[in-house]
Amino acid sequence: MTQRRPRLVVVGNGMAGARTVEEIIDRVGPDRYEITMFGAEPYGNYNRILLSNVLSGVEAEDGIFLNSLPWYEENGITLRAGVEVTRIDRFARAVHAVDGTTTPYDKLVIATGSVPFVPPIDGAHHPRRGFHQGVFTFRTLDDTRAMIRYARDHQRAVVIGGGLLGLEAARGLQQYGVSVALLHAAGHLMNAQLDATGGDILRRSVERLGIDVVTQARTERILGRDAVEGGRLADGRTFAADMVVIAAGIRPNTTLAQVSGLPVERGIVVDDHLRVLDEPDIYAVGECVQHRGQTYGLVAPLWDQAKVLAGQLTGTDPTAAYHGSRTATKLKVAGVDVAAMGVTAPERDDDEFVVFAEPRRGVYKSVVVRDDRLIGATLVGDVSKVGFLMQAFDRGSPLPEERVRLLFDLGGPPAEVSAAELDDDTQVCNCNGVSKGALVATVAGGVRTVSGVMDATRAGKGCGSCKSLVGQIVEWAAGGEVAEDPAANWYVPGVPMDKPTLMAEIRACGLRSVSAVFAALADGREDAKSKMGLVSLLRMMWGEEYVDERGARFINDRVHANIQRDGTFSVVPQMKGGCTTPAQLRRIADVAEKHQVPLVKLTGGQRIDLLGIRKEDLPKVWADLDMPSGYAYGKSFRTVKTCVGSDFCRFGLGDSTALGIAIEERFQGLEAPGKLKLAVTGCPRNCAEAYVKDLGVVAIEGGRWEIYVGGAAGAHVRKGDLLATVDTPDEVMAVTGRFLQYYRENANWLERTYAFVPRVGVDRLRELIVDDVDGLGAGLDERMATAVAGYRDPWRERDAPATPGQFRTALPLVPLPAVPVRAEGSWS
Ligand SMILES: Cc1cc2nc3c(=O)[nH]c(=O)nc-3n(C[C@H](O)[C@H](O)[C@H](O)COP(=O)(O)OP(=O)(O)OC[C@H]3O[C@@H](n4cnc5c(N)ncnc54)[C@H](O)[C@@H]3O)c2cc1C
Ligand code: SF4
Repeated sequence: MTQRRPRLVVVGNGMAGARTVEEIIDRVGPDRYEITMFGAEPYGNYNRILLSNVLSGVEAEDGIFLNSLPWYEENGITLRAGVEVTRIDRFARAVHAVDGTTTPYDKLVIATGSVPFVPPIDGAHHPRRGFHQGVFTFRTLDDTRAMIRYARDHQRAVVIGGGLLGLEAARGLQQYGVSVALLHAAGHLMNAQLDATGGDILRRSVERLGIDVVTQARTERILGRDAVEGGRLADGRTFAADMVVIAAGIRPNTTLAQVSGLPVERGIVVDDHLRVLDEPDIYAVGECVQHRGQTYGLVAPLWDQAKVLAGQLTGTDPTAAYHGSRTATKLKVAGVDVAAMGVTAPERDDDEFVVFAEPRRGVYKSVVVRDDRLIGATLVGDVSKVGFLMQAFDRGSPLPEERVRLLFDLGGPPAEVSAAELDDDTQVCNCNGVSKGALVATVAGGVRTVSGVMDATRAGKGCGSCKSLVGQIVEWAAGGEVAEDPAANWYVPGVPMDKPTLMAEIRACGLRSVSAVFAALADGREDAKSKMGLVSLLRMMWGEEYVDERGARFINDRVHANIQRDGTFSVVPQMKGGCTTPAQLRRIADVAEKHQVPLVKLTGGQRIDLLGIRKEDLPKVWADLDMPSGYAYGKSFRTVKTCVGSDFCRFGLGDSTALGIAIEERFQGLEAPGKLKLAVTGCPRNCAEAYVKDLGVVAIEGGRWEIYVGGAAGAHVRKGDLLATVDTPDEVMAVTGRFLQYYRENANWLERTYAFVPRVGVDRLRELIVDDVDGLGAGLDERMATAVAGYRDPWRERDAPATPGQFRTALPLVPLPAVPVRAEGSWS
């Protein structure tokens, strides 16, 4: 009889919960426990720290994910993303979730993090909507997205809270052209980390960035009936605002623990083993925890906690104990450097206190030393010494006799701890919990570039303050043989080749599947992050001969539909050139009614979107629709938007509708490194927005057509470059085919045309595609002809699924309808 594996349930799929599971898998592999993770957010696990960078536009959303959905699958973890746990039944040893499910556990880990603290402000909430329209908090990816959307359309933002989060929010919002004011209740900014002098110097730096700062400002009321119009402070002053971001602090998220009868004070009370008091099988980790009276609001402590907890849960280190953490912070605001650790001022008579202030230059530095140990440091405006100070603070390493050397380099031999002197277990990257030992091991494993080591370990990818130390350690570990980063040119991270070499090798060795590529070109090492890119490349190169391995595909590509935040899918039938017929409309309406589709919506690409379809219902919906797929998913040719054109429009110069339909018919479903959105417009009035498409066609006087490439109107906005002006629709088709094929063969994975076209240069593209100076044209035409001839409507898989589990539900669903259903005639 096989023995059942113990069930480990983790509530909270944030930084602490996921890190704990990673640590467990690192120690004993994925099979020791049957692991289920619940996350109230509908995503895999992401680096919350980097939301500030997403808001300020420094980082793309894709770049902040730590564990993608396939990671959970590969490790056999059941991820219940988007499912909140509502109660723990300690006696039945099970958790109850909002979707009505009950999940038993043998060991339970609570990692529910924090919630934003919202001070009592009248009018912040709307009786029906939660927060009033235009009021935001800053904690999750959804918060960040909502703020970005709103900031784009509004003019005046006010941020309540002058701590780290408030400052990062204020600076981030400026990217969207809003004017930003910061209201802070205390007398100076970052009062938890800085003294008054440091805070005032910081204020001036922040004001120089164009952010208004008001201190002693306690917001009492938010004004505005339907949306935010401003607010009033406790002293009667008022302010105008279209949006208000409340970043006034955080509180441990203890609701679940409280309703379940666990011991909660400020946080969930745990012992040194992270075990909840008096509960043999329940643990808590991260910001929701109160340990020895202390709660934490930074990531460094939770890495320490995750290690201890994993040691306990796996039995690999039963003596592991958490003794608390010392915390240091750094502001991630471009243009203002602030770092702070420990105490801000002397506390005892014999504490040494060294201060340097140069307000005009915006520089302030201080250190507090006790018994020859650094117990606090504040740096504003010049953080050049932060690496050394953080090390001294964390490790208690000896300090230079001349204390001023803690603040400045005064020539002579550097007092800094050299890379060689650090112990292996010294934590170098506090944000991502990476030790010197891990960096050295990565170099020993063959990675010889700083960025390669950073990618492999995540060191330096948080607040960035450790980057120089990471560089020094890599250099030291590589014995001076640090290499330039070749990976920058690799097509996918797991196969060390640029795209032309990779394609040549694939062709030469006849590699027709993703696993064959890994086996032949990556020493058999499968790399999850490389799979999607390879699938796309192989499908492009081999067409019909490509050997499909469904596991290599992303969920959207596996089921030919776009996964939505609640785990359901959207179904978008094809409507070539945005045209439809009464019969199609009737059929779509019938299907929507029959399957009780919660939301029917027009897309930006002139099609109809049926939202809220369960995975297992997809084949039935496709069959009832009996229309081809509209490709609203995947990295492929999507749609051709058209205007009315000469058919009906008074201004029309060319038949844009007919040409758009013809283009869509020819290139439908084509694989590409990035999605492709096209448009054809009947005159330069541009009703179909052709200038901002990957490829846009514009009819001009004299029956001619202009072809623009590299336009975008999404997260990036770019007007396309004029590639060619041609005389006939046939020539449009020919140039379009060549451009698309050249892009497919030469763009990097996920490189949209708005990046590809400027990289290659439109003049060079014109030489290659229109003038054919290198003689590539015939080959491009031929390969494109083969590709389009191989088109198969993927929705035909409804009759014969590619794998038995293709349309079986795997992801958790919240009860439908989960998307808001708007009643006819109402818009609020
Ligand atoms: C914008 C921003 C910038 C930051 N910058 C820094 C920085 O520079 N340096 C630094 O050290 N720290 C920073 N932090 C703090 C850092 O992000 C946190 O310390 C860290 O995320 C805490 O991890 P956690 O796992 O305890 O909580 P979280 O990461 O918040 O994870 C908790 C998860 O639990 C889920 N959850 C809660 N209740 C339930 C339930 N009942 N059922 C299911 N799931 C549930 C939540 O949805 C959430 O996803 C920043 C935070 C923010 C918001
Ligand atoms: S782009 Fe020109 S032809 Fe097309 S609908 Fe607008 S005005 Fe008419």
